[in-house]
Amino acid sequence: MLLQPRPPSPLQEIHDERFERHGVRLLLKRDDLIHTTIPWDTDLFGPVDLYPPGNKWRKLAPNLRAALEAGHEQLVTFGGAYSNHLRATAAAGRLLGIATVGIVRGDELAGRPLNDSLARCAADGMRLHFVTRSRYRAKADPQALAELLDEAGASGAYVVPEGGSNALALAGCAELGRELRGVTDVAAVACGTGGTLAGLAAGLAPGQRALGVPVLAGGFLSGEIRSLQTEAYGGPVGDWSLAEDFHHGGYARVPEALESFAAGFASRHGLPVERIYVAKLLWALTALTEAGTFPPGTTVTAIITGRP
Ligand SMILES: *Cc1c(COP(=O)(O)O)cnc(C)c1O
Repeated sequence: MLLQPRPPSPLQEIHDERFERHGVRLLLKRDDLIHTTIPWDTDLFGPVDLYPPGNKWRKLAPNLRAALEAGHEQLVTFGGAYSNHLRATAAAGRLLGIATVGIVRGDELAGRPLNDSLARCAADGMRLHFVTRSRYRAKADPQALAELLDEAGASGAYVVPEGGSNALALAGCAELGRELRGVTDVAAVACGTGGTLAGLAAGLAPGQRALGVPVLAGGFLSGEIRSLQTEAYGGPVGDWSLAEDFHHGGYARVPEALESFAAGFASRHGLPVERIYVAKLLWALTALTEAGTFPPGTTVTAIITGRP
């Protein structure tokens, strides 16, 4: 089948004295490179750079498969003006031949030129439908959602939630955990909706621990993760925790200290560092290691979920 098999994304060992001084081994799970390991991709679909990055792909692939198998011709999802999830969905839809509709938060955007992120969506064939913030929020109500989909010409479309996190998405991310069995003590990932962490934790073996670094402020995330796991597995699964102290009060806020940390890490290790999620993850892991959080001998794997 088109989306299988999918070999594991590569692992890379990093030698950094901030970790080695504390006896901590740091590995990167290069999910940003996931597509370079799929031989059929380039032949069938063109340049690897256009593919959705790792964790979004892992969340979307099982949903696209379900949508196609159920005979849907359209898939609809939701996001803000800079949503990686919208971009990933548009790319995945183009690759797999299913029409995509993106419902975008903020009707003030409708009359303006598209930003780079939305232009990328449109170039991949996504039809964009802009709505007010209040209607966007109201989509949690089934009646309001039905009206919204109708207005967007997406009644009957397969619905993927904002951020792409649902039960099938967790199953896709559990694969990420299984790829890390026997490899690491701690598997760490940056969290938006928490879907990737929820699935990752479910795929790890007993004795391994998943650690999430929330990118947004607010204590809502552990409740979200628990309810996603309950939806997918009927209850809490795996050993996971959150390192809550590393967000900077907003999705796209990158303070100067973080910016220079990211630039330093990138140049030292020859690695492109995505600023919003990946930089915060690496920053948090460095700080936790320097604070002696991980006992000497611990292997920590940072999941590189995307590229700049
Ligand atoms: C979306 C995203 C995340 C967070 O994924 P969630 O499953 O929403 O927690 C992490 N890193 C990158 C690069 C992303 O685009």
